[in-house]
Amino acid sequence: MTALFEHASLAEAPQKTGASVNALRERGQREVFCGLTGIVWLHRKMQDAFFLIVGSRTCAHLMQSAAGVMIFAEPRFATAVIDERDLAGLADANEELDKTVQRLLKRRPDIKLLFLVGSCPSEVIKLDLSRAAARLSQTYAPDVRILNYSGSGIETTFTQGEDACLGALVPELPQDAAADAPALMVVGALADVVEDQFRRLFEALGVGPVHFLPARTVDRLPPVGPNTRYLLAQPFVNDTARALEDRGARRIAAPFPFGVEGTTAWLKAAADAWGVDAATFNAVVEPPRARATKALQRYREALSDKSVFFFPDSQLEIPLARFLSAELDMRLTEVGAPYIHAAHLREELSLLPDGVRLSEGQDVDKQLDRCRAAKPDITVCGLGLANPLEAEGFTTKWAIELVFTPIHGYEQAGDLAELFARPLIRRTRLQI
Ligand code: SF4
Repeated sequence: MTALFEHASLAEAPQKTGASVNALRERGQREVFCGLTGIVWLHRKMQDAFFLIVGSRTCAHLMQSAAGVMIFAEPRFATAVIDERDLAGLADANEELDKTVQRLLKRRPDIKLLFLVGSCPSEVIKLDLSRAAARLSQTYAPDVRILNYSGSGIETTFTQGEDACLGALVPELPQDAAADAPALMVVGALADVVEDQFRRLFEALGVGPVHFLPARTVDRLPPVGPNTRYLLAQPFVNDTARALEDRGARRIAAPFPFGVEGTTAWLKAAADAWGVDAATFNAVVEPPRARATKALQRYREALSDKSVFFFPDSQLEIPLARFLSAELDMRLTEVGAPYIHAAHLREELSLLPDGVRLSEGQDVDKQLDRCRAAKPDITVCGLGLANPLEAEGFTTKWAIELVFTPIHGYEQAGDLAELFARPLIRRTRLQI
């Protein structure tokens, strides 16, 4: 569901960041999807995993409507609805959960990894899902691993569900002999087609072995150790990064692989860490870089000099704003992000134009006023804001679509530009 949350109000504090941009910190009412939404893309990525949401009817409805946007093969998620009960009823709730898991695993022997996903209704918060996961693991190990994480909508944005899920996986990553060898780990769910493209590029560069987190199947979970270097593919997996560092892995600092420049800089950071020479690097990346540059050219006319306003939602806002500004000459009126991780976003922030208005957190009414005043050509926002803004005559882009769609890497650069160009072109046609 789209939820409104009221937070203790902090004074708005314009700040300077490392990129010499003004950042406005807001802690007011915000409009976001909850972390359960991550299951929609994670269940497609992890082919032998199942996500059992322990939640309310509201959670079940959210998942139905979010997943209903995209219909795929047999879904690998379900909701165990926990009804209102008092603390005395907790023993029953645990028993019901055990029975549900038993029925599920009997019916679906293909499940090798089961996530118990917590939610925010009070009757669920009372249940200790980490103990439930430990208890059930004793029964079903080694055939099925059972882990838990929270997709609760309190204090999170929808992409943090993926961060919580991957964070739960980190203790499961093997630390065997393979973990002692130098290796690259790419962190953050990517569409399989994108993962394959990156794997081929890294192989051609001589960077590797390369592992991806999440892996497609549980038997391919990447090893981790002090010689693991990792590259973030998504800007929202901050807790996962911290957990990897606790296990000895070290981050390769880079912008994110969106657009031609972001992808080139991301690959270059890994190539430099592996000591790849400039001639080899250029020879490998030049053909896809040229294809991507040509693909972007098609959308330049529609996007150049158009203004864009980002409401905070997916945590992709800063890298995407950099892409739209640097590669398509769009004007940034405000770039709102739910949370700005200064270290992980340092390279991105340094590539933003000077003077751009950056905001962190949200006070939705004030931000709507700023958006109305800015009159952007396109507004990137959550579903809850898109319809009212469209009714007021604004052209909008759903932030969630940017997470559902493959947008990373050279071959997807044109598709990424098209996601922004399409609503603008449609609006122009409607006005003719
Ligand atoms: S976890 Fe909370 S915010 Fe998310 S659908 Fe369930 S009740 Fe709504």
